[in-house]
Amino acid sequence: MALPWQAEQAPDPRLLVLNEPLAARLGLDPASLRSSEGLLLLTGNLVPPGATPVAQAYAGHQFGWYAPRLGDGRALLLGEIADVDGRLLDVHLKGSGRTPFARNGDGRAVIGPMLREYIVSEAMHALGIPTTRSLAVVATGRSVHRETLQPGAVLSRVAGSHLRVGSFQYARATGNQDLLRRLADHAITRHYASAAEAEHPYLALFQAVIAAQASLVAEWMCVGFVHGVMNTDNMTISGETIDYGPCAFMEAFDPAAVYSSIDEGGRYAYGNQPVVAEWNLTRLAEALLPLFHDDEEQGVALAVESLGAFRRQYSAAWSAGMAAKLGLPDGRDDEETSALVDELLALLRQGQVDYTSFFRSLGTAARGQAEAARGMFVDLAGFDAWALRWRALGPDADAMDRVNPVYIPRNHLVEEALAFATGGDLDPLKRLLDAVTFPFDERPGLERYAAPAPASFGAYRTFCGT
Ligand code: AMP
Ligand code: MG
Repeated sequence: MALPWQAEQAPDPRLLVLNEPLAARLGLDPASLRSSEGLLLLTGNLVPPGATPVAQAYAGHQFGWYAPRLGDGRALLLGEIADVDGRLLDVHLKGSGRTPFARNGDGRAVIGPMLREYIVSEAMHALGIPTTRSLAVVATGRSVHRETLQPGAVLSRVAGSHLRVGSFQYARATGNQDLLRRLADHAITRHYASAAEAEHPYLALFQAVIAAQASLVAEWMCVGFVHGVMNTDNMTISGETIDYGPCAFMEAFDPAAVYSSIDEGGRYAYGNQPVVAEWNLTRLAEALLPLFHDDEEQGVALAVESLGAFRRQYSAAWSAGMAAKLGLPDGRDDEETSALVDELLALLRQGQVDYTSFFRSLGTAARGQAEAARGMFVDLAGFDAWALRWRALGPDADAMDRVNPVYIPRNHLVEEALAFATGGDLDPLKRLLDAVTFPFDERPGLERYAAPAPASFGAYRTFCGT
């Protein structure tokens, strides 16, 4: 499932950004990571003693089509490291050169998309959403052919693991049941130790992944995150968000929001994400089937029964998340709350209201100043009627400010920071990172980081030219 491999030489490595708090969590000294030897480590050009970097194999459904052999085409797992809490983490490089899985790719990555992953993953972490994290981006000093020549870069990223739904699809497709079992045992040990004690450990593993993904996707939905490429190879077993490509935060609320230029059919649109997650988990069930039961029919019955939990768990997590955004106690079984949420979303959609700034200003409305929130709607009477019923439930404004961010990595700000960074100016990147790293603390001077894109920014498209 993994081949020992080496990174390609970076001709002139230069550090663009280093995540010092994360380095400290990993017990790494930021000063030595900044040294020339540190840069060799961060590009895979110096391998720590005892480590064996590997390229991992995986398969995956890409836009619904099965690809039997994907794998780390331009990435390497450097090794594992325990953080300060003793939790074992993968340290992984992206953009480190061709591997045996590279197919037609050049094995490289360029500054823009690697910094984009850095920004968005750190923003997600700061929002409290499970995600891989970014340790550093190092420019390689090599020009890389994309639509134009672009400066090359290597991202080092840290994750609970890089086990994907596609890893299990790959193991299943080998026909080697022992390999599949060992992979499942590894996932249990690494992520879901209590499954080992269950009556059916492999079914318990599957159920744990379902629960983790139901909760993860509910969190994405609550903050308006659109992953953009929810292929089965981009869905983790750990329940961490992974592989930030053409992702985006939605501005005007719209279930049909799609940003990726390659997602022509809108398969991975904002509102489709829960259904896609369930579809991907069904593919995981198919991969795990031989471990559920010796008899295929009985295995299928167990899988179907477990999959049934996804919708319930997703709905419960999402409803609770939305109730919290409204400053209301967990509204799971509360019809009034769920009616309020549905009606609000209809109003937001109709008025093309900016999702993030609306919820933040609703906190101010809970304190009695509704003008800012109200001013975002065309249907003022509709909002007033809604707000009257909501206020009557006594929303907790302080609790709202703890879950409704002021600062998200807005698409126009991300693009601006990437363009400056690609041209050599890292200041806009640092300012954006500073804003999104503390998303809930409103700070004077950061007003432009809280505002929607100007109309001149137009309809946002992200390109998979990663
Ligand atoms: P992604 O869409 O980034 O999740 O990647 C899908 C697959 O394509 C993975 O197997 C990647 O390793 C591979 N891949 C993407 N870009 C490149 C590249 N420039 N060179 C080699 N493989 C790549
Ligand atoms: Mg991927």
